[in-house]
Amino acid sequence: MAFLYPGVAYNALCMPGSDSLPMVFAAALTDPGRKRALNEDAVAQVVTPYGGIFIVADGMGGHRTGEVASQMAVGQIVEVLKRSEPSPQGLLEAYEAANEAIYQAGQKPESRGMGTTCTALWLDLPYALIAHVGDSRAYLLRDGELIQLTQDHSWVADRVRQGLLSEEEARNHRWRNVITNALGSFPSARVDLVGLKVRPGDVFLLCSDGLSGVLEDRVLSEMILTNPPEPAVAKLIKLANDWGGPDNISAVVVTIGSQVAENPKPYALPLEASNGQPVRLQSGNDPEVLTTQIVEPEKKLTFWQRWGSVILLLLWFGLLGFVLFNQLGRSNT
Ligand code: CA
Repeated sequence: MAFLYPGVAYNALCMPGSDSLPMVFAAALTDPGRKRALNEDAVAQVVTPYGGIFIVADGMGGHRTGEVASQMAVGQIVEVLKRSEPSPQGLLEAYEAANEAIYQAGQKPESRGMGTTCTALWLDLPYALIAHVGDSRAYLLRDGELIQLTQDHSWVADRVRQGLLSEEEARNHRWRNVITNALGSFPSARVDLVGLKVRPGDVFLLCSDGLSGVLEDRVLSEMILTNPPEPAVAKLIKLANDWGGPDNISAVVVTIGSQVAENPKPYALPLEASNGQPVRLQSGNDPEVLTTQIVEPEKKLTFWQRWGSVILLLLWFGLLGFVLFNQLGRSNT
């Protein structure tokens, strides 16, 4: 078992599969960056029988309370998950326990405003469950394509979804750090859950905004595509620091090996849409109530991907019309 907290460098994890072929490779690293004295991020990676628990949390609050909040979240969630059967409900209960602990600790006058983002991947092969609060992120690199599995709970992300800001404007907006949902801010947590069935070669990246706010998706994608987890996390953090390191930086990379255990679980909730896409669930304000609306992850389509087939169809009809018109003209004369 390997725990990683601020100040600890990093550790690589390798889980043996059958025939000694590893099923999961992972590495986690957190760094204070260049501008901050403290590291309020916390990361964790823990081995479990069919995978592992991987977490990134980014704390906030004055008087060192951000540091306390992110470590409480990581500690509580790992604690609860280690004694739970993997399930979406178990993951929600772990988040609820962390929320409760941080909320109670934040009632002291000196700890007001304490809270944390928290993005966790619970790998229970062949399934992956992701829980998410705040603006840290989980990405999946599959077949060379980087898919952002989580939606940021932030002021700028809301504006981007409404079409009021572009991605680029959001990246540079002075309110880019304002988050709209955090663990420990309210008596009850609002948690997004994403579930999917993993495939050999899938790579997951969990990170805090100190990484995703500095490096473009294209760079994240290239780094995790071309490096095993251990050098990948080290290079990602170095790159973010080379770009100024304005915030604490955390990265967890989890790579699925060429073998994936077939260990079907009787999950109560759908983990995958019929087309093989990840399924997103939201707990709403009441964590007991899970809505099971299926939301496909947003993919950015290019102009030709979006309109290409329509244009092609119109051209075909145009051509057909032209030929028919000519035939008709010829048969009339
Ligand atoms: Ca941050």
